[in-house]
Amino acid sequence: MPVDLFENTLQQLRSAFQIMKLDDNYAKILESPARILKFHLPIRMDNGKINIFEAYRIQHNNACGPYKGGVRLAPQVDESEVRALATWMSLKCSIAQIPLGGAKGGIKVDASKLSQGEKEKLLRSYTRAIAPFIGPDIDAPGPDMNTNPQTMAWMADELIKFHHGDHRWKAAITGKPLEFGGSLGRLDATSRGGMYIIEEVIRTFSLNKEPNFVIQGFGNVGMYLAKILFENDHKVIGISDVHGGIYCKNGLDINALIRHYEKEKTLKNFKNTESLSNEQLLELPCDILIPAAIENVITKKNADKIKAKIIIELANGPTTPEADKILETKKIILIPDILSNAGGVTVSYFEMVQNLSNFFWSEFEIKSKLKPIMKKAWNSTILTANKYKCNYRMAAFISSIQRIVDAIKFKGENY
Ligand code: GLU
Repeated sequence: MPVDLFENTLQQLRSAFQIMKLDDNYAKILESPARILKFHLPIRMDNGKINIFEAYRIQHNNACGPYKGGVRLAPQVDESEVRALATWMSLKCSIAQIPLGGAKGGIKVDASKLSQGEKEKLLRSYTRAIAPFIGPDIDAPGPDMNTNPQTMAWMADELIKFHHGDHRWKAAITGKPLEFGGSLGRLDATSRGGMYIIEEVIRTFSLNKEPNFVIQGFGNVGMYLAKILFENDHKVIGISDVHGGIYCKNGLDINALIRHYEKEKTLKNFKNTESLSNEQLLELPCDILIPAAIENVITKKNADKIKAKIIIELANGPTTPEADKILETKKIILIPDILSNAGGVTVSYFEMVQNLSNFFWSEFEIKSKLKPIMKKAWNSTILTANKYKCNYRMAAFISSIQRIVDAIKFKGENY
């Protein structure tokens, strides 16, 4: 049976509620998203036929600020997945202490099967559908799986049109191209934020000077992370994309690998490497394993075979609650997604701030604002783990839930 993502989220939430002894009244609020929007979007395809696409925008909680979260294009998108991701967004923004709530959007589609024209029609139609419910002070969609600056530009342009040409509305869509109000440092923001967490991990757990890394995923997150690690003289010994992985015990030359990938469109046959499957890649002995692709890849089926010392989740939801338990008994340290991948939404927040003030920051400014935010989120997780004697996932959950609950309490009885 496929794993139901929202069931996983509920289990995680309930374990955290129990440890922190949260009043049931607040638990109820966090278990139920505030608003679920579901659409059926008719699109005329290139062959003249009309296809109906199922799409969602789920707004989970806005106690700390406007809803915020990406839009994904993927065949497995359903209500449970978007609900889970929307919930994690509320927690992610809270742990990063940025003034935003949580939401998520998704369109059920295999984007690789669409022509560029079909994709544009679909994203514009989706934007028109959600337009009455979004805005920089209401809900701001951003990038996620299978989106890029082009898809975000279509969305921003459509939203501006919906508002009679008023450019201020582009602040409601993040991940835009630089030429159209985007922010420097947004493309590699999740990986850059992840790198700041990796630095803290190395320092806190006194790892040897040359820890080696295995990364699952070669998309927006995995590829940039590999590049940043390589630039910082770290050794990536294994990496994969959807089709499979490659391994080289002495470390991969990531710049050469990116050139190879751009030319060949595959990681396979890169010089001096062995090919392996995605399953084998996750089981490689290494210091730090980084799932940076999709959800539910570390499950009760393979958790026992993981040989990494530390797992840092850059994907959303890569580890199931059952796998969490197995990893804990194996004393594998796990740094959870809502903490490690918060860099992406944080730079989206910077993009909104720059749009709203119509004044843009340098890449240096972006990095120097991102680093202390990631460090603060890290410190708050470590402090909570010490206080409650719990693992880091629970600590990140408790610390972020507490902040949201405090905001709800300030709003008082009529929340
Ligand atoms: N998709 C990213 C995430 O899951 C970023 C969302 C955004 O920038 O709004 O955190």
